[in-house]
Amino acid sequence: MPKPTDFELAEVEVGDPVDGQVLIRNAFMSVDPYMRGRMNDVKSYVPPYQLGEPLQGGAVGEVVASRNDRIAEGDWVTHQLGWREVAVSDGRGLMKVDASLAPPQSYLSVLGMPGLTAYVGLLDIGQPKEGETVFVSGAAGAVGSTAGQIARIKGCRVIGSAGSDEKVAWLRDELGFDQAFNYKSASLQEELAAGIDVYFDNVGGQQLEAAIFALRTYGRIVACGSISRYNDTAPSPGPRNMHMIVTKRLRMQGFIIFDHNDRHPDFVRVVSGWMRDGSLKHRETIVDGLERAPEALIGLLEGKNTGKMLVSL
Ligand code: NDP
Repeated sequence: MPKPTDFELAEVEVGDPVDGQVLIRNAFMSVDPYMRGRMNDVKSYVPPYQLGEPLQGGAVGEVVASRNDRIAEGDWVTHQLGWREVAVSDGRGLMKVDASLAPPQSYLSVLGMPGLTAYVGLLDIGQPKEGETVFVSGAAGAVGSTAGQIARIKGCRVIGSAGSDEKVAWLRDELGFDQAFNYKSASLQEELAAGIDVYFDNVGGQQLEAAIFALRTYGRIVACGSISRYNDTAPSPGPRNMHMIVTKRLRMQGFIIFDHNDRHPDFVRVVSGWMRDGSLKHRETIVDGLERAPEALIGLLEGKNTGKMLVSL
């Protein structure tokens, strides 16, 4: 588990933008589980953070000065120069967002990367059919809460697991999950005894093993993340029942959301429609101030968030 003393707050001079650049005042930054992976000095799908260098990650802010033809002062943009109050960008990777359509921080949560992950993961990888049972772990988090609601909207029976009774009540009473349980106190085997068709896996570990037992023939596992393992210091044993992948003809597929940007326009249109008609709800847990960003990231890994964990700047 990272510690607050692993982080350093630094103050630097930020110059005026030169040709092609813009200056952005960040309003919100995102903390995400993948950031823990970037703190390991290993090769992965994104390079590790470097000691002594600023961290990076999703952020949304207002352009306060521009020398870039594509972007005007007053535009709101999402970008990857989070973990700072003010960012100078050469315009690469900036995406304009409509701050009149939804609050800007929504573009880091339900209308941003976690929302797209839920949408693509569930619909394209999980391919649920009406009437099927979908089990989502990490169900009260940013990705899980959206994935579970999309399954419900598509006519599936939805089971969710989360780490506190308050989160479980939110899933059942407000988000319309058919069944929800606290994985820290409930029996996984009993909760899943009736069988499932799709498992949206955010956590790996014991819940993955229980889901493999519970999956019906031709079931699908959406391998989205394994947060129960991100702080492991040695490789952990895998599920003990992998042979069931064969006997039950299961399909397990991982995905990285960056490969699916082509789905973005469709996602924004469909999900904003569900938000407007009230069928899809979301929540954000907001920590105030850059100096508390490490606390927000550590809190995310400890389950202190309901919905998307964000830092307001
Ligand atoms: P969440 O908002 O779900 O926050 C993380 C949550 O993980 C915590 O709130 C906590 O909830 C839960 N958690 C922490 N430790 C454990 C544990 N040991 N066992 C079970 N649950 C635990 O984060 P996101 O929605 O942003 O991400 C969810 C998952 O999706 C992560 O695995 C992430 O890596 C993955 N992801 C994958 C992407 C891809 O492209 N494949 C893109 C984005 C995210 P609780 O209180 O319930 O324990």
